[in-house]
Amino acid sequence: MDRDGTLNVDLRYMKDPGRLELYRGVPRALSLLHQHGFRVVVVTNQSGIARGLYTEEDVAAIHARLQERLARHGSGVDAFYYCPHAPEDGCVCRKPNPGLFQRAASDLGLDLGSSAIIGDRLLDVQAGERLGLLTAYVPEPGERLRYPDEVPLARASADICAPTFFEAALRVMARG
Ligand SMILES: [Mg+2]
Ligand SMILES: [Zn+2]
Repeated sequence: MDRDGTLNVDLRYMKDPGRLELYRGVPRALSLLHQHGFRVVVVTNQSGIARGLYTEEDVAAIHARLQERLARHGSGVDAFYYCPHAPEDGCVCRKPNPGLFQRAASDLGLDLGSSAIIGDRLLDVQAGERLGLLTAYVPEPGERLRYPDEVPLARASADICAPTFFEAALRVMARG
């Protein structure tokens, strides 16, 4: 799954773990996914590193905080993958490119054909399409005007459109 705007409020180039705010229902949804035999993997574009806005250590601190918050609810993420590059770097790991998903599949022994992606942006849906994943689109709550142009295409392209992460997770589990 995606991180910013999907699991937590997207503050754009978040550097301070103290500002991390999980969406309601996320810990429980991740627990249910685990119970259904899914591995929970975060794949996130963090171009703020290439832009010099924060460091890889800052990203690690945010992921540690995220795990800590999830652990309070008996939940957690199995692995984090992030792209540190800028869009103009032309890397293979920035979503919608498949690099990080392929690395995760190899590291964790995942079958991409029976995997799903949940995300709040068109690029999440597009990454999933390229890899043959089940795609679930959850437009960022209250932020629909941030990327209004991509909403219709994302809705039309995704296998599942859901109003919340929790609902998306339930629908992924119902399919798989
Ligand atoms: Mg996002
Ligand atoms: Zn990259």
